[in-house]
Amino acid sequence: MKLISIVVPCYNEQEVFAETYKRLTATFSQLDPSKYQYEIIFVNDGSRDNTLEQIKGVIAMDSRVKGINFSRNFGHQIAITAGLDNCQGAAAVVIDADLQDPPAVILQMIEKWEEGFDVVYGKRMERAGESTFKLLTAKWFYRFINRLSDVDIPLDTGDFRLMDRNALNQFLSMRESYRFVRGMVAWIGFNQISVEYDREVRFAGSTKYPLKKMLRLASDAILSFSTTPLKVASFVGFITSIIAFVGIVYSLYMRLFTDNFVEGWTLLMISILLIGGIILLVLGIIGEYVGRIYGEIKKRPLYIIKDKIGYE
Ligand code: UDP
Ligand code: MG
Repeated sequence: MKLISIVVPCYNEQEVFAETYKRLTATFSQLDPSKYQYEIIFVNDGSRDNTLEQIKGVIAMDSRVKGINFSRNFGHQIAITAGLDNCQGAAAVVIDADLQDPPAVILQMIEKWEEGFDVVYGKRMERAGESTFKLLTAKWFYRFINRLSDVDIPLDTGDFRLMDRNALNQFLSMRESYRFVRGMVAWIGFNQISVEYDREVRFAGSTKYPLKKMLRLASDAILSFSTTPLKVASFVGFITSIIAFVGIVYSLYMRLFTDNFVEGWTLLMISILLIGGIILLVLGIIGEYVGRIYGEIKKRPLYIIKDKIGYE
């Protein structure tokens, strides 16, 4: 008998919650109960709506369901981590609460897992109902991050994936606070394979990833998986130093060997502004890394659980 854990991060998902629970249990009723058992872990990521009450309601009726209730909103990637920290399964599946990732795909993932793969991730073929902006930025972003970093993060994947216990334990041993889960899973290696699926429209409710959260995820990804921006910073600094050197020689020449040295004023202004701007840019990039080093070095817990529901 194998236990499969399903981790579902939930943030203000009252509109979809009941349907999500229904579809997940319907999917798992198709599994042979003599071979598999399952548990569903809903992580309430500081929802301000009725999500927590709904989770509690389901737990009261179904002993296979458990709940982790955060003390505040910690974000999607942390919610996933908390669910995985608190699951028992021989394999664990992460799925969004909004039914964009069809639960039926989990059955295909389990098949691949039985074939011996350690990580089975969902690869999105079609993405229905997303804005052109999101599709384009996502497409561009995954290609960009792969260019920058040494880790090959599979293209067009999200956090919908199954992990074998061994791979999962390796993942959970990584306690960094700036987490880009799909990159970290790619980093651990093992036998990974994709299952292709079409991403559907959100069943109900609205996206919990406004532009601000998307940008934060993107910068966490780039800064934690690559030091290329730092190299760009030094490169830009190097080029400007050369330009500045040429400028200095030129100004000196004008001053010493000609009479019209006031004319260099334009060039002077331009170079001051240019160099000032580039220094700020480079400092900013370095500052991003320093800020993250500071964040990691505080060694705070990744999340705070207010209460656990349905755990003995
Ligand atoms: N989510 C979360 N905490 C957050 C934001 C989102 O737990 O701060 C959850 C959300 O409930 C959903 C999943 O993360 O289950 C993905 O969010 P969403 O579907 O809104 O993102 P999108 O699919 O629009 O990128
Ligand atoms: Mg979604």
